[in-house]
Amino acid sequence: MAGVDDLMMHYPLTIRHFFERTRRLFPKKTLATRVPGVGLVRSTYADFAERTARLAGALETLGIGKGDRVGTFAWNSHRHLEAYFAPPLMGAVLHTVNIRLSAQDIAYIVNHAADRVLIVDASCWPTLEPIRKQLETVEHVIVMKDTPGAQIPPGALDYEELLAGAQPMEAWPTLEETDAAGMCYTSGTTGHPKGAVYTHRAIFLHSLASSMTDVLGIGERDVILHIVPMFHANAWCVPFAGVMNGATQIFGGPNPQPRDIIEIVHNERVTVVGAVPTVWIAIDAILEQEPQWDISSIRCIPIGGSAAPRTLIEKFDKKYGASMLHAWGMTEMTPLGTVCRLKSYLDAGPDDQRYAYRAKQGYPVAGVDLRIVDDEGREQPWDGQSMGEIQVRGPWVIRSYYDTPESGDRFTDDGWFKTGDVAAIDPEGYVIITDRTKDLIKSGGEWISSIDVETMIMGHPKVLEAAVIAVPHPRWVERPLACVVPKPGVTLEPVEILDYLRPKLAKWALPDEVVLIEAVPKTSVGKFDKKVLRERFKGWTPAN
Ligand code: ADP
Repeated sequence: MAGVDDLMMHYPLTIRHFFERTRRLFPKKTLATRVPGVGLVRSTYADFAERTARLAGALETLGIGKGDRVGTFAWNSHRHLEAYFAPPLMGAVLHTVNIRLSAQDIAYIVNHAADRVLIVDASCWPTLEPIRKQLETVEHVIVMKDTPGAQIPPGALDYEELLAGAQPMEAWPTLEETDAAGMCYTSGTTGHPKGAVYTHRAIFLHSLASSMTDVLGIGERDVILHIVPMFHANAWCVPFAGVMNGATQIFGGPNPQPRDIIEIVHNERVTVVGAVPTVWIAIDAILEQEPQWDISSIRCIPIGGSAAPRTLIEKFDKKYGASMLHAWGMTEMTPLGTVCRLKSYLDAGPDDQRYAYRAKQGYPVAGVDLRIVDDEGREQPWDGQSMGEIQVRGPWVIRSYYDTPESGDRFTDDGWFKTGDVAAIDPEGYVIITDRTKDLIKSGGEWISSIDVETMIMGHPKVLEAAVIAVPHPRWVERPLACVVPKPGVTLEPVEILDYLRPKLAKWALPDEVVLIEAVPKTSVGKFDKKVLRERFKGWTPAN
């Protein structure tokens, strides 16, 4: 028998395959970007292929080579998709920088990654301009005109002029699948931003996985609308899967609002559009008032980033005919970990049971191993009760943070990544995220899941949003405080929330107090920012 190396071809799993495949097979298919005041501007994969090869040629002329980092600082657009592909195809590394971070974090991230070139939307330039001098490694800034009146700032290169004058790169260098293709920093909900570097292989396998029927099921017939920012966890890697499959892809453009999303879905018959729950809560508020919109073309709303309330999932199904798919993942996992597909025999069950399952985060995607582990490192049973920190391993899970040796303690000796999320797993294998370790509320020796309580509160018909935080308590160590935003125009008394929760919760898990607030503060990627709330209520005195 031949040696192991001779059994199958060595065919590196690189995204070059996606690019070349789509260039040949789907040149006619559509890409489009929303331009404010103009509408959708359409192009094709043939244009994409040509322009991407030109961008690579231009970057080469600017001195970019293997391993160099090329940053993007931009909204979702077909140009951003070109930047998703050109650097990795030429062996460089795409670094998507989160435009909503603080100036301090942005400077830290760009310097830490040592980006040599930054590709920036003109509308994002005002954020970068004041810190330009602090970006020590950046040699060139390339600006993309993303709005009709956009100007190229002095000293910057014009993206379109650069492409027009470039020689398209004709032959891609041979790469290993273990070469870096992209990188992304965590958005810092848990402290200092840390970098995750994605290999070609990770993106390749993740894209195959997300195209499976039991995951997102992305295919050529899909019309994908990109709302999850392309600077956040690879926009859940969907742009790569979109190119791989030759799907129609529509990009949300600068600062898309819920109304823009509704309009595009309605007009373009969008089939896949992901976003964090806060976006869907806002969309629901509009659809409630304006029944003329039809979003029933949507077959899959990947929803995650924070827990999706059951009531929201049920309402989108029954009232709008748009199916939500609850998913869990993180920047460090490229990002998919679990999706909540109902097993056939669970789907046949009564409604109540079905939606109880649909609100869970789902079972692990093929390719991801997952376990829960207690404080002493003991693996916990899948009984739906025992809680532990989720640990994962798989081909698209990071093995280390980029150049951050002090985070070595996030990896176990036996090769797992500690996610920092606490969960239970039911006997069917469905993960139920209880909290992030730091958001759990420890009250008199009992753990209270803030997520549990807040999704319950969000089920109240008068509530728009709710966040539950721990506040210090002299006797119980910590107690839950519920911060609730009523729906516009309704009168809500805190006691109504407490009465609503009382029959559903253990006595000790009932919040001590409900405070009404105007809005839940959000992080740069639209999640509830409990850090800010904790700060705001740190001097709060318990009612009992
Ligand atoms: P950051 O760590 O900056 O928030 P990520 O987007 O990588 O950036 O966040 C991943 C985290 O988001 C997970 O570790 C988890 O705490 C939370 N999360 C993701 N999806 C869900 C979900 N469906 N339900 C609850 N929490 C979720």
